[in-house]
Amino acid sequence: MNISKLLKERGNIVFDKTLAENKAESEQVKKKSLLADWYITGTNAVSKEGHIVNIDHSGNRAAAMIYGPDNVIIVIGRNKICGTLDDAVKRARNISAPMNARRAGYNPPCLQLNRCIDCKSDERVCFNLVIIEGQFVKDRMKLFIVDEEAGF
Ligand code: SF4
Repeated sequence: MNISKLLKERGNIVFDKTLAENKAESEQVKKKSLLADWYITGTNAVSKEGHIVNIDHSGNRAAAMIYGPDNVIIVIGRNKICGTLDDAVKRARNISAPMNARRAGYNPPCLQLNRCIDCKSDERVCFNLVIIEGQFVKDRMKLFIVDEEAGF
């Protein structure tokens, strides 16, 4: 969505790991983002029962969604909507994880098989499966659905 660039241009301080110049800087940005005023992200699946399902490698995204930033905005495409929690977890494991592996340059079995085999590979990209069922702080988290296919 180009949000980081637009926020930077208007003078906001932005912690976006994709703008980091190296791995060390990326790690610092990820840590700083845990205490940002606003955290803007996507998620991997949302069930019609109300679950927000995240499948993460290091877990910094899920950590910030759960606690730290005062406000969390989640933006998803309609392709992330699933019927049940079970469907949402299946989507995360069988669609999101392989696509994320490809993006990040890892090679777990699901990348070739297009399905999760619950591997213990060193290339594993899903050490954290985090299901958010609600928020203790009312209105802290807001989820926007864009009526198009977007993200994985
Ligand atoms: S457990 Fe392995 S095969 Fe399953 S989604 Fe994670 S990385 Fe892929």
